[in-house]
Amino acid sequence: MKRYKNAIRTLALTLGFTIVASAQTVSSLIDEVSTSNLDAILNEFTGEVTTTVGGNTVTILNRVSSSGNDLAADYLEEKLNSYSNLEVVSDQYSGGSLGGRNIVATQVGATNPDDIYVICAHYDSVTNYCADDNATGTAAVLEAARVLSQYCIENTIVYALWDEEEDGLVGSNDWSGRASNEGKNILGVINLDMIGYDKDGNNNMPIHTNNDSVSLKDDAVDILNTHSAAIGLTPDVVNPGISASDHASFWNDGFKAIMLSEAVGFGDLTPYYHTANDRVNTLHLPYFHKICKYLMAVVATKAGLIDNSSCSLGVESEELDNISIYPNPTTSVLNIELPNTLGSTSLELVNAMGQMIYRQDTTLMEIKVSTEQLSNGVYFLKIGSEKKSIVKKIIKN
Ligand SMILES: [Zn+2]
Repeated sequence: MKRYKNAIRTLALTLGFTIVASAQTVSSLIDEVSTSNLDAILNEFTGEVTTTVGGNTVTILNRVSSSGNDLAADYLEEKLNSYSNLEVVSDQYSGGSLGGRNIVATQVGATNPDDIYVICAHYDSVTNYCADDNATGTAAVLEAARVLSQYCIENTIVYALWDEEEDGLVGSNDWSGRASNEGKNILGVINLDMIGYDKDGNNNMPIHTNNDSVSLKDDAVDILNTHSAAIGLTPDVVNPGISASDHASFWNDGFKAIMLSEAVGFGDLTPYYHTANDRVNTLHLPYFHKICKYLMAVVATKAGLIDNSSCSLGVESEELDNISIYPNPTTSVLNIELPNTLGSTSLELVNAMGQMIYRQDTTLMEIKVSTEQLSNGVYFLKIGSEKKSIVKKIIKN
């Protein structure tokens, strides 16, 4: 199968699995949050400035799902694909008026791939601009993904950007329902909705929870208190929290979820809510930046930073480049050919939600894996040998 070698090598490069950096501290990751990057995303995503999508110069005029917000979704998909070590899925579902499209990126945990935290925000809007609601939450999720994806983590992190929140939490409800049916081990959900307005300047951080999510809320408060000097926000627990955003989809399916939002009820909420006057120049950007740093602290803590010597993502070697996997896309059988220098090898097939569905330890050079029973979709094949390993994306059709 030598003739496949170049094709496989090219695939590995285009997937963007790169050597990850050594483990840092949560504090150092907070410092990596870029305020200029966040502000650039806000301005591009609300159409205040042009951006580039698919190589074209475009303006994202609005993100209203019913009038077609594919440009916004394409922008998110392209951004997430530009970061290392993420598998990005454009998740078309058939809910709502027209059906929608969630953009979901997974960073597989090296130690506990089945233990999942979901970091999310809705990207759709009710009219033009809608900077606070919810370009702010969307930008926060993107920036957390950009920073953390460079590091090796214990637990799986799913970065999700929901469609059709404004039509009744349609996108998040669809995804959460499927996650529940499939028995996903989601340990916590952090939802961000409207995090850019703080007229009274009190740097209050409302954390909305329900009784079932109190342990997650407690962790979030502890993380804020631990890093209070670097973040500069004061926690304000809201229980019962409002249910008018995507975290409620997860509450309904029995998962622990909290929401970070600028207001408790209508106190200190943007007066431009759900109007085209909700623009970037009405936001209190320093407050927004603080919440993005806080999110980074929460995500990095929950992900569990580990040293890259024990990381199963992205560490490439010459032997691991000489692997043939075919056919891909696969229908019934996946053939895996390993170089004879590799020795004892572990193979793990992980689904798009980070759940391991197959594992084999082997010293064979040729392995056949039956894929007949798999549902159609994206999977990741993790091939590991001692401390060297690599991940290949597999499509089942
Ligand atoms: Zn919203």
